[in-house]
Amino acid sequence: MFAKEEIDQILDSYEDFSIATICSHSALQIFHGAKQYGIKTVGICTEESRELYETFPYAKPDELLIVDDYSRIPVDELRKRNSILIPHGSLVEYAGDRIKDLALPIFGNRGSLLFERDRNNMFDWMKKAGLRIPRILQPEQIDGPAIVKFPGAKGGKGYLVVNSPDEYYQKVAEGAKTMIQEFIVGVRAYAHYFHSFDGDAGYSTNYGRVEMLGVDQRMETNADEIARQLSVGANIPISFTVMGNQALVLRESLLPKYMEMGRGICNSSKELFGGIHGPFCVETIITDDLDIYSFEISARIVAGTNLLETPYSLYTHGTDYTTGMRIAKELKDAFRNRSLNEIIY
Ligand code: AMP
Repeated sequence: MFAKEEIDQILDSYEDFSIATICSHSALQIFHGAKQYGIKTVGICTEESRELYETFPYAKPDELLIVDDYSRIPVDELRKRNSILIPHGSLVEYAGDRIKDLALPIFGNRGSLLFERDRNNMFDWMKKAGLRIPRILQPEQIDGPAIVKFPGAKGGKGYLVVNSPDEYYQKVAEGAKTMIQEFIVGVRAYAHYFHSFDGDAGYSTNYGRVEMLGVDQRMETNADEIARQLSVGANIPISFTVMGNQALVLRESLLPKYMEMGRGICNSSKELFGGIHGPFCVETIITDDLDIYSFEISARIVAGTNLLETPYSLYTHGTDYTTGMRIAKELKDAFRNRSLNEIIY
């Protein structure tokens, strides 16, 4: 792991800073947010994506660094531009474990990104956070609908649902590394939070405050709208490939539970890997008993925040407010207070 002290030295050498990210996932939102706060923006972009990232005047980065592929982060070029890298799902995907050695300031705690990459770690984290989680099953324990997840599956692609040990052995290749979870029946809700050392909104944590910025629901094909397919007689197996997101408002009596969950995630992350900072998300399913099951934490901005984060961000910030804007504000305040080192690694 690249030493924190060295990252702090790099930060000390920055007389100003820019916000950089890979042109994918939630980049438009991140650039737009930075621009609202007058922060310079740098997009790491392929030639193929250039046209798109030059298309939206209010979300277009000030400068594009063209790369052949996203697995190669132009570290020296970014350091010359005093860049702070904002991690998102595509960075985690493309850089993989190499995130730990990136000689570049990363917003948040790179330890959290590495920790969430392992599903078993994530389930330990959720347990420690006091979240209710689905049962994790061995193939022989499958006694009803169970979802089979493969390592590194992107956006739910390739998952299976099976109903018995026999069906599992028929459909899953021998020796495949899978995690089998009880399939929770209910409605999905993906809550977006932001942890800040010096925020004044939200619930207090052991080392700052956690605010809620929004809730979304991922739209997944063919799971969502499957009734249309079934009603025309198509016999299509359920699948979970994300194709977009839509906004969701929780019934208000559920909010305190979600706020407590956010707090639990922050407090337990401190014990496990030194804390979480900035945006994160918990993926949940709410049953008809109003029990909330959590099945994943993303320790960074999620694509569901690409919706205008309302109404919770409105109640917190008084106006339509995105996670991209919240990141920019946090960095700008920390730069002014010379405390960037507390929120960057
Ligand atoms: P994940 O890769 O863990 O984010 O899961 C992808 C999608 O699969 C989710 O957005 C849900 O629609 C579905 N899913 C995941 N885990 C469960 C579960 N335990 N029960 C029911 N649906 C699930």
